[in-house]
Amino acid sequence: MSEQMISVEKARAIVLEHIHPMPEEHLEAWRAVGLPLAADATTDIDLSPFANSAMDGYAVRTADLADASDARPVTLKVTGHEAAGHVFTGEVSPGEAVRIMTGAPVPAGADAVVKYEIVEVTGGDGSGNEGALATFRAPAKPGENIREAGLEAHAGDVIMHAGEVVTAAGAGLLTSAGVAEVAVRRAPRVGILSVGTELVPPTEQPQRGQIRDANGPALMAAALDADAEPRFFGIVADDEDAIAQAVLEMVESCDFVVTSGGASAGDYDYIEALVQREGEVLFDRISMRPGKAITFGLVRGVPFLGLSGNPAAACVGFEMLARPAIRAMRGHTLLERPLERARVTHNVRKRQERRFYDRARVARDPETGEATVTEERSQNSALLGTLHRANCLLMVPEGLQGYTAGDEATCVRIDLPEGAEL
Ligand code: AMP
Ligand code: MG
Repeated sequence: MSEQMISVEKARAIVLEHIHPMPEEHLEAWRAVGLPLAADATTDIDLSPFANSAMDGYAVRTADLADASDARPVTLKVTGHEAAGHVFTGEVSPGEAVRIMTGAPVPAGADAVVKYEIVEVTGGDGSGNEGALATFRAPAKPGENIREAGLEAHAGDVIMHAGEVVTAAGAGLLTSAGVAEVAVRRAPRVGILSVGTELVPPTEQPQRGQIRDANGPALMAAALDADAEPRFFGIVADDEDAIAQAVLEMVESCDFVVTSGGASAGDYDYIEALVQREGEVLFDRISMRPGKAITFGLVRGVPFLGLSGNPAAACVGFEMLARPAIRAMRGHTLLERPLERARVTHNVRKRQERRFYDRARVARDPETGEATVTEERSQNSALLGTLHRANCLLMVPEGLQGYTAGDEATCVRIDLPEGAEL
């Protein structure tokens, strides 16, 4: 183990330098929701391609209605109608009107639509279509109730840029622009391995000295939540050969490999030596608590993150290093969780020169808007419930002995997506 302890920021930068964006794949636009586009998307047509009505009503020439009032109503002859699948191709001449439905193309000659509710319709077959008479008691403004052609975009315009995350509305927009299939970066396959002779599968009743593997599912969930395709490689004992065999199998089929356990310098900790032998160790300790003993390197060229076994340390290590890496591999450009400043409600004492990420909850006073932060009572890294309940990691930077109640501190909002506005 090297003597050098690097900062979390430096460690993250090293991880991000050693990953590559994943190859592109094509998905139906709706399936890409939440994912960044791998390439700009352009529209092949004007959106909308034609001027259309914003209302059900009558397409008219405003000049005809210039003097319309209660005292002097104007009656126009209805010469046609526009309904779904029925397009009126003629022209609206002076003295005429065409019945029109929302979204239908505005016929030539008309320059406004008057909504149905304020028009008095008589005659014809009672449908209000051709053959009827329509009476108007007020003028209309040119352009009224008409959505111009190209309001949203013009043919050839970029409607969504590479890196932009597809929303539900965006999937609709892409599809109306002719981009029924979008290019995204495929999910990295992230291999998860639990290392420890004391670990038993979830279905087993642990005997004395044994514990159920909690990190396996926790890290699988964290990988899924980061938009990866997680793959569980099971539990291996603290056996040098067994670990080596599992890790070498993982790098064959995975884009990123994560192990938990066996990462410190204990008697049975073989992880770092393995990375050294089969690849390259890029760092093996960071100034962070929980999660100091983290090995990162390349094994046969595949990024490898060896987290310590303490469950909360493994989760925080994944959050700080693996999550941004996976997101970057998928093409996400926003890699930072929102940071929130909040007043600490109690004293926080630290005796080590280390970056701390304490499990805590931020709350905002609904009246004053002031944010306060309260830590979980225990920061023991064996505990998962405290992390489960936390909505933030309260940061105590290196060189600070802690906080006095009332001090402002920075909190990493692990409950909010990267780039979210507070
Ligand atoms: P290690 O990093 O192997 O020294 O493990 C540190 C602590 O985390 C020990 O108490 C282990 O029993 C515990 N631990 C290691 N792996 C797991 C796991 N997969 N699930 C739950 N606890 C674990
Ligand atoms: Mg162990």
